Amino acid sequence: VSYSGVEIRLPYRPRPHQVEVAREIARALRRGNVLLHAPTGFGKTPVVLAALIPYMRRGYRVVWAVRTGSETDRPVEELRVFAERLGVSFLALSYRGKRDMCLLAERYGRGLDYSEVSYICSRERRRCPYYKAFKERFDPAPFEERGALTYSDVYELSRAQGVCPYYAQRELLAAAQLVALSYNYVVSRRFEWSIRRLFPYSESILVVDEAHNLQNLNLESDTITEGTLERAAAEAHELGDDESEALALHVLDEVRDRYSGLGPDDADTFTPSELLPEGYFRLLEKAEESGEAVRRARLARGERPRSSLYHMSQFFLRALELEGEDGIAFIAEKPGERVQLSLWDMRSAEVLAPRWRIFRRVIFMSGTLEPVDAFAETVGVTNYVAIRVPSLYDEANARVYLTRDLSTRGEELDEEMAARYVDAIARLLGRVRRNTAVFTASYRVQARLMAAGLAGAAEKLGYMVFEERRGMSGVEAGRVLRGFKEAAREGRGLLVAPMGGRFAEGADFPGEELMAVFLAGIPFDRPTVKTRLYIEYYERLYGEEKGRLYAYIIPALRRASQALGRALRSPRDKAVIVLGDYRYRRYMPLLPDYVRELARPLLSEDLDSIDLPW
Ligand code: SF4
Repeated sequence: VSYSGVEIRLPYRPRPHQVEVAREIARALRRGNVLLHAPTGFGKTPVVLAALIPYMRRGYRVVWAVRTGSETDRPVEELRVFAERLGVSFLALSYRGKRDMCLLAERYGRGLDYSEVSYICSRERRRCPYYKAFKERFDPAPFEERGALTYSDVYELSRAQGVCPYYAQRELLAAAQLVALSYNYVVSRRFEWSIRRLFPYSESILVVDEAHNLQNLNLESDTITEGTLERAAAEAHELGDDESEALALHVLDEVRDRYSGLGPDDADTFTPSELLPEGYFRLLEKAEESGEAVRRARLARGERPRSSLYHMSQFFLRALELEGEDGIAFIAEKPGERVQLSLWDMRSAEVLAPRWRIFRRVIFMSGTLEPVDAFAETVGVTNYVAIRVPSLYDEANARVYLTRDLSTRGEELDEEMAARYVDAIARLLGRVRRNTAVFTASYRVQARLMAAGLAGAAEKLGYMVFEERRGMSGVEAGRVLRGFKEAAREGRGLLVAPMGGRFAEGADFPGEELMAVFLAGIPFDRPTVKTRLYIEYYERLYGEEKGRLYAYIIPALRRASQALGRALRSPRDKAVIVLGDYRYRRYMPLLPDYVRELARPLLSEDLDSIDLPW
């Protein structure tokens, strides 16, 4: 389709609205930034690529920012489909940091973090055989032939040549027309320079995927624990550095004195300089030097170059720099046996607004960007065109019910209400007899429902129960997810997981894998010290009413929208959705349009006779 000289082509038969939206994006980019709100299953990635290809043909470059490194391959794989089917060919790259791309680091063990691998490279590069090979015999031809390169393509092709994948990637970056990378390389000054030198942002169009996450980036985040301080003291003792040992022990005493009494759900704020002894700048610099010596010695012994002394000094030096800044909070908590101190950056609009201006244009996209004006204000976007894609779902896909007699309102879910929830969910399960997810307002609500017999009630109906637990490893989570998905074939499964968690936000459940979703409560943040600080900060920025809306209400409803969107991933999907809290009625304008249109109120006892869309 040609529009005012801009040709829009998709590599497959377009679905409803796709061509019009691509065209609208292409046109809107001439005027300013774009805020694209499109439901899940719409196909945002190919549509945005289709809009950008005419710009790329004219020489614009594209930076595609995703939330985590693991998502960088998606736009590149999609671009490959364009290349194969439409013959458009661009050099595109999924970019990863040294942690994923260093061949030498494997010698120092598994699971090294970003700063450890960076450190290894900064010390060892001159002697690194892969770096030497890169300098002597790197051949870009096989990379360029592929055109669109996932990070594992770059890694494997580099390994085959015996050259460093990280430096190969950087060499390719200079010639690439599209790079997909994690948000950090765009929003953080500390990371951006490494890209901008080779890929000038000022000539690029930036795409921010899943942009609703921008409000909670926590750019300066860092945490130390009592354990960090104990290990720092031990390292200093071993080095014979009495001053650094005394410094770590001083902080440890202060921390224990002040915060040992915190309960698992409490938190307090602290002022970094008050935990430190007199003359702390000099002492922290000394500790930093000693920490550096520890890292060097460990590396020389072939061990991971980590040092708690170094971490402690970095944490406090950064914290002191930020002390007194509005929007920065220092939080003491005791989630388990040990106190932990965290640096928490609540700022978004103030930090992000100047970042967007570096680029020619920015496209922000997400399935939960509404209300778009609130989104724009909280992340500092001006000069934009909002494009809203209407919902793809109607009565043929979904039934939505709003229970009038359930709520997780209040601090605690009392026994009677917990029992009522279990009864309601059991009625739903008995009726749908398909894979179902109960997404809970929080782990606390989840624990109450489990204690009230949710698993037993589901098992009695022939369901296998899968639960997301706090602190679950990636491997365990993968096992739970696979088990639940397989249950759709073998019988039926019940997934119980908190909203905002990895299953309610990050997992895909196409087709039969998920046919019913029950939202147990609204996932408002608990009224903790952190929540209060966050609301107060937003109230200072935007006034009382808007501040509370932006800091407290919209984020909770976004989490709920994300969760209920799990069941409807394409226009062919069918699902039953139950909004299990009467307060959802008040917040309908903040929920997806198909939910607003289809929601029917009922009493939870009627869930065993609801109408099904299949
Ligand atoms: S040059 Fe490459 S392989 Fe060598 S240490 Fe640095 S990142 Fe690792």
